[in-house]
Amino acid sequence: MKANWEAALSAIRRQVTSDSFERFFGRLSYAGFESGVLRLTVDDAFLRDWIDDNYRSLLEAQVVDVAGEPVRIEIGVAIPPPVEVVVPAPVVAPAPFLALAPSAQVTLEDDPDFPEFPLNPQYSFDTFVVGPSNQFVHAACESVANNPARAYNPLFIYGGTGLGKTHLLFAIANVIRARNPGARINYVSAEEFTNQLIKGISGKGMEAFRERYRSRSDVLLMDDVHNLAGKERTQEEFFHTFNALHQSNKQIILTSDKYPQDIPKLEERLRSRFTWGLIADVMPPELETRVAILDQKAHRDGLTLPTDVSFLLASRVRSNVRELEGALTRVVAYCSLTRRPLTRELAAEALKHVLTDADKGPSMETILRIVAEHFDVKVADLRGQRRHRIIAHPRSVAMYLCRKHAQASFPQIGESFGGKDHTTVIHACKKIEAAAASDAALRALIQSIERKLPA
Ligand code: ADP
Ligand code: MG
Repeated sequence: MKANWEAALSAIRRQVTSDSFERFFGRLSYAGFESGVLRLTVDDAFLRDWIDDNYRSLLEAQVVDVAGEPVRIEIGVAIPPPVEVVVPAPVVAPAPFLALAPSAQVTLEDDPDFPEFPLNPQYSFDTFVVGPSNQFVHAACESVANNPARAYNPLFIYGGTGLGKTHLLFAIANVIRARNPGARINYVSAEEFTNQLIKGISGKGMEAFRERYRSRSDVLLMDDVHNLAGKERTQEEFFHTFNALHQSNKQIILTSDKYPQDIPKLEERLRSRFTWGLIADVMPPELETRVAILDQKAHRDGLTLPTDVSFLLASRVRSNVRELEGALTRVVAYCSLTRRPLTRELAAEALKHVLTDADKGPSMETILRIVAEHFDVKVADLRGQRRHRIIAHPRSVAMYLCRKHAQASFPQIGESFGGKDHTTVIHACKKIEAAAASDAALRALIQSIERKLPA
């Protein structure tokens, strides 16, 4: 059975991210096999419960697959000798890069000679934690970084705020600069572009402005292009900038919190150009990815988070990595100020007065998972395009529940369901609402799913 277990484990290793593997499965040890029960141990009680709740059926299925006989799994805790948790010295938060960027940005007056754009190495691919939610965008960014102007042009990155869009922009720029120190990399937010344009128009800086963006960018990174909305003159200028760069085969990378089609008051000719290359979206990270992000940030600050603390934080803050970091900073500060060890209780206390996502209801991700389980379909199908009733009905129910419990907007729901149009979501929600009003069975079904949602 030990060999079977090891074979099952290698099968799992191929199915999950290496991060999840190390975090969960890699920590399980074989502890014996007797009358159909395979005993495993793990060194952390919290982790044991977690694996038991979430992964036991996966584990059992794999072992049964390899062993070819029914096997039940029991997971115990082998507690290692207690380690004293050392209260870390007060953490001096590293200077936030974004605070540094604006002053370092090119301004027309003081930098006629194209200064080196300062790139903070902290925003790199190495420090970007990859999970299912951002795997695609990460791969797209790496590909552009390694083949600027040859892979996808423009690359359009979109996703909610605080999900790592700016981080990825700088990661690309870092790679391009490292490989090609002479590359002229121009970073500007849409807002700053507008400001510079206004200055240029009102003074005599127009030529310098155009020179900078049209002729002297090998790579143009424009952050937050949704801010171009309604700014006609800026859009006009950017249109010509875009054309000049694209025609001379220069790489353009854009970020936005909206899909091109959803940016209001944007000229059609820009909208269509935004879709010429590749559009890649960043979704909110799943629980495992959030835990990995926290661990990484903590590690960078020289501390190790107890597992139950990272899980507490990751389940309280779900939708935004920036807020997740904020929660971590708060907990760590609280810990060093009160000079108490970093435990789950302490973390809960530190966050007591902070309104976190846990107060906003279950996440869409949770709802999708629970609905998928209830109807015995795959989450991927709910997010997919199949229209068959077997999938379409659970999908509508899931959309309805997201609207009701996750406090999500119709476009947000559309995004979470594989980029569906918000009108599709509205239609589905209305349909379920109307049907539930007259159909007691449907009402009961919805209630039974609602009972499974976390409070
Ligand atoms: P956005 O530009 O999308 O609003 P940022 O790029 O400013 O978000 O990211 C907010 C913070 O979250 C940054 O400190 C960034 O390093 C961090 N962050 C976001 N996603 C990740 C990730 N996948 N791995 C590590 N850090 C991340
Ligand atoms: Mg940003």
